[in-house]
Amino acid sequence: MRNLRLAIVGFGKIATTRHVPAIAATSGVVLVATADPKAKSPDVPSFASLEDLLRDGPEIDAVTLCTPPQVRSAQARLALEAKKHVMLEKPPGATVSEIAPLQAVAKAAGKSLFATWHSRFAPAVEPARELLAGRTIKHVTIIWKEDVRVWHPGQDWIFAAGGFGVFDPGINALSILTRILPRPVFVTGASLGFPANREAPIVVEMDMADATGLPIKVEFDFRQTPPQTWDIRIETDRGPLVLSGGGAKMSDGGKGVVDAMKEEYPALYRRFVDLAATGESDVDLAPLQIVADAFLLGRRHTVEAFEF
Ligand code: NAP
Repeated sequence: MRNLRLAIVGFGKIATTRHVPAIAATSGVVLVATADPKAKSPDVPSFASLEDLLRDGPEIDAVTLCTPPQVRSAQARLALEAKKHVMLEKPPGATVSEIAPLQAVAKAAGKSLFATWHSRFAPAVEPARELLAGRTIKHVTIIWKEDVRVWHPGQDWIFAAGGFGVFDPGINALSILTRILPRPVFVTGASLGFPANREAPIVVEMDMADATGLPIKVEFDFRQTPPQTWDIRIETDRGPLVLSGGGAKMSDGGKGVVDAMKEEYPALYRRFVDLAATGESDVDLAPLQIVADAFLLGRRHTVEAFEF
């Protein structure tokens, strides 16, 4: 079968550090162009916008949108209407309700819409899901704390409305949680701390539950200096199951059972190539819905102003 000819739109940090190497390492897909207002690829033709690329660029079959979430929905619509398969970086959009119309356009065009959750491809996630299916879960604690200056240097969009603030990394934890637990979860309360000069939260505490009343406590903080913490601790009838390092490691009852360096992004591209072969879509909005509900239900307070 012919390679999927792909363009990356939004050629910033994640595109250059993860997507480009993952595409090079995946058979069935080849990078042929990029679109970004300023950044250019040293290897393929670069355009200032998706519109320019579609008009003047090489033939493409698919696009990956690595732009900030606020501009994704219009770009996804444009690409799908131009009969291109679309891969969305996480979060899939700036709102929940903008996704259903995109699913409808994808269906009408016979093209794939893939809303990715890269953290679900971390090595401990599927083993954790399998172990938890046979256990009684007593409570869950998520601590996801990182330094925004290290991981998102100068990215003002992240603290603009629709940029998610600390939910940008936090949604990765929620994408793992909603994959490994046996039942759907929902928000029961939240406290959101907004820097005095910003439109998105920098610190969040959240309570969630499932239909059985399982208590789930969540702490997200974007002001963390080293060490960084990306941990999910699940107390079970057979001891604690702990995922750490964002799902790279897992211990069961204190014993290490997973400790692997595995790139998440090649698996995303293998999945995208498979989806594009059939025109099927893969869209799970559960993590995005939780974030939206935290904004709906959460109490807001103001914290110290933040500058990069
Ligand atoms: P970034 O470094 O700011 O890159 C975004 C790029 O998109 C920038 O070069 C930006 O250009 C460009 N852009 C903005 N508007 C555009 C438009 N209309 N058309 C084309 N390009 C446009 O951000 P990032 O860290 O790569 O994050 C992008 C997405 O990836 C986010 O959703 C984030 O959650 C996700 N992600 C990031 C990480 C990470 O560690 N950074 C990890 C996983 C996933 P300007 O800067 O000139 O505006």
